Amino acid sequence: EYIRIDPILNQTVKRMEILHPEWVFDLQLEQGLMVKINPLHLEQIMLIVIENAVKYSDGDQRVHIASRVMHDNISITVQDHGIGIPSEELQHVFDRFYRVDKARNREIGGTGLGLSIARNLVQHYQGEISMTSVENEGTRVSMTFPAVAVR
Ligand code: ATP
Repeated sequence: EYIRIDPILNQTVKRMEILHPEWVFDLQLEQGLMVKINPLHLEQIMLIVIENAVKYSDGDQRVHIASRVMHDNISITVQDHGIGIPSEELQHVFDRFYRVDKARNREIGGTGLGLSIARNLVQHYQGEISMTSVENEGTRVSMTFPAVAVR
């Protein structure tokens, strides 16, 4: 079942705005993009990734969320300006229970399961999820799903 993703992304951001009224969620959505996914699963993936963007931030309380057609895929990106992830740790963050630098994370709660759940959900729909990051600058999570683009 293909669904339009923009209403789901808008709704997810509205939820995050209620939880984090002091944050700015900057949305840049291409209209009418369709992905074959259960809408609740898409929302769950987005909540995990956006919640991380908020959790692992210090200064700039702004998250940029974008969707677009890229090649023959639908791309969804979530970019923060938070604490970032050291490059040698990036390869592990999707593993179950993995948390970067336990000392750093001690006061930020979490189990290390969020991203592994997100990856399982994305892969269930033949999608891919990856992360790029620069320490003390920010992190970008990129997802792609097979697409039919209706515009
Ligand atoms: P939870 O399961 O409660 O979400 P968690 O946030 O520790 O706990 P994951 O979402 O799997 O678990 O993230 C794994 C680790 O990756 C985190 O502990 C954190 O160190 C790092 N991380 C994830 N997202 C970001 C981000 N946007 N910026 C910086 N570090 C991040």
